[in-house]
Amino acid sequence: MKFINRVNQKNKKFSIKWVVIGVSAIMAALAAVWLYMHDLDVEQSMKALTDAVSTEESAVETPKDEVAKPTEPEKPEEAPDATIYPEDIELPKAPTIINGVLLANKQHPLPETYAPGEVPEARSAFETMKAAAAEAGLNLHGFSTYRDFARQKQLYDSYVAKDGQQAADRYSARPGYSEHQTGLTFDIGEAGKEQHWASASFGDTEGGKWLASNAHQYGFILRYPEGSEHITGYMHESWHFRYVGKDIATEIYQQDITLEEYLGI
Ligand SMILES: [Zn+2]
Repeated sequence: MKFINRVNQKNKKFSIKWVVIGVSAIMAALAAVWLYMHDLDVEQSMKALTDAVSTEESAVETPKDEVAKPTEPEKPEEAPDATIYPEDIELPKAPTIINGVLLANKQHPLPETYAPGEVPEARSAFETMKAAAAEAGLNLHGFSTYRDFARQKQLYDSYVAKDGQQAADRYSARPGYSEHQTGLTFDIGEAGKEQHWASASFGDTEGGKWLASNAHQYGFILRYPEGSEHITGYMHESWHFRYVGKDIATEIYQQDITLEEYLGI
């Protein structure tokens, strides 16, 4: 009996041992599952938290971007600001001629060597216009016409030294970019009224008004009209006239457009 009891006791101990192992194994498995799920949750929570932080950070760091974004579509790439010189542009080997019309602006400079002098056809048209103006009691004078590259460089550099480049770019062309280098441009004033030369006040004088209304009949256009700075690249200049010939000048005058618009650029 003693032996049997001993065996029974041994069996009993043996069973308890396996129950303990079994329960432990189940507990361990459950713990592993719990830990796995717990870790996953933590990971997801951390990820969510990180996302929240970076969103908050970007909102804090880039308010300018968020403000700037809606304005971007208003400035399409195909319509760059005409008042700004393209960066790193080199002066070309040949001038830009569109439909037979020579063009010089901030996007279309002239070669440094382009030096036609004052174009006789333009001078002749100016003299005819001057004679017509004289009949109206006006004594027109072209106080600045052809300027070569070197002269324009001298002028521009002096304006930059005086007012800074940003201001100078609004009223003076960089060398190679001046329309005066075409030999087709006349800055016009009245003799004896020099105080209005190259001044906005010229537009309010009799001479300025006469030219604005009649220059096209002689082949000249007011090259930089009021409100067209974003197209021509220059602020209004009531004294700066460009010879393009009677037909084109008349069409531009009647349509009330700029040379750039006429040329479709
Ligand atoms: Zn001018």
